[in-house]
Amino acid sequence: MKSPLFSYHAPVSVPEALHLLTTLADEDPRIIAGGQSLVPMMAFRMAQPGHLIDINGISALSGIEVQDNELCIGALVRHAQFGKAVVQSPLGSLLAYVMHHIAHAPIRTRGTFCGSLAHADPASEWCLTAVTLGAKIEVQSERGTRIVSADDLLAGLMSTTLEPDEIIVRTRISLLPQDARFGFYEFSRRPGDYAMAMSLTAYEIEDGRIVNARVGVGGAEDRPRRSEAAEAELNGKEPGKQAFMAAANAAAAGVEPMEDIQASADYRRDLVRVVVRRALEHSL
Ligand SMILES: Cc1cc2nc3c(=O)[nH]c(=O)nc-3n(C[C@H](O)[C@H](O)[C@H](O)COP(=O)(O)OP(=O)(O)OC[C@H]3O[C@@H](n4cnc5c(N)ncnc54)[C@H](O)[C@@H]3O)c2cc1C
Repeated sequence: MKSPLFSYHAPVSVPEALHLLTTLADEDPRIIAGGQSLVPMMAFRMAQPGHLIDINGISALSGIEVQDNELCIGALVRHAQFGKAVVQSPLGSLLAYVMHHIAHAPIRTRGTFCGSLAHADPASEWCLTAVTLGAKIEVQSERGTRIVSADDLLAGLMSTTLEPDEIIVRTRISLLPQDARFGFYEFSRRPGDYAMAMSLTAYEIEDGRIVNARVGVGGAEDRPRRSEAAEAELNGKEPGKQAFMAAANAAAAGVEPMEDIQASADYRRDLVRVVVRRALEHSL
């Protein structure tokens, strides 16, 4: 099926894009970045915007740089740009490793990090990454700029707290310490498919024991979330099978898994146990 008719706009500055969003507010204007989610949704008529505001001509949104110990990811930074470490920090290696699990090469060359956050698929690798690492999202409208945590941005299944007149201009993620360890594991039926469950973990070691543990789980609930219970099982423990198994069990016990055509809630809970354990094992 082809998408319904829409008007196309190609602003070259953020203020111009924001003005279009405000003035066309009554006619369902939508930002288009990589188009890798929006265009299929339009083809299926799940989205019928009256106006597409294409931000690809706004060069100010294409940068990726380190500022004040944070990696700043502009709204036009594509998945594929993370293929080689974008920064000499474990964060660069983490983003490169995770990126290779997103979709397929053609989608990675167009789809954007910030577009993934705005789309809010519960199985998005970047949504999981942003929540686990406490990313801050810079959002602009003609009313001003606000910073929102990834946790507060993601409201549920394909749903965010973005207002219709707002654009994500960049995402900021704190660099990880040089000795940080991370692990990622996802389960999907075929390579490139959305994950049925996945986990991202990070921690540091002090005096042989785990500190600053972060355990994120995605694909299992309506949005990715950190498991405080799993983190409590890790902090202060020696890294190894016993602590990892305890954390995996705690994460599985704490989820309220989605049930769908692919998997029952019980099956997904089991998957959570497996992906958390394997992500932690990967971090050794
Ligand atoms: C076959 C297939 C497989 C895929 N597999 C995966 C996968 O395994 N994992 C995964 O994470 N993703 C997957 N995707 C989705 C892909 O990663 C998309 O690129 C991503 O979800 C959205 O990024 P985008 O830049 O393409 O956004 P677009 O499609 O342009 O936009 C998506 C939504 O976000 C809004 N939006 C975009 N940018 C902004 C912004 N800066 N500010 C405000 N709103 C904005 C748009 O208005 C729209 O509502 C897959 C897609 C396809 C087609």
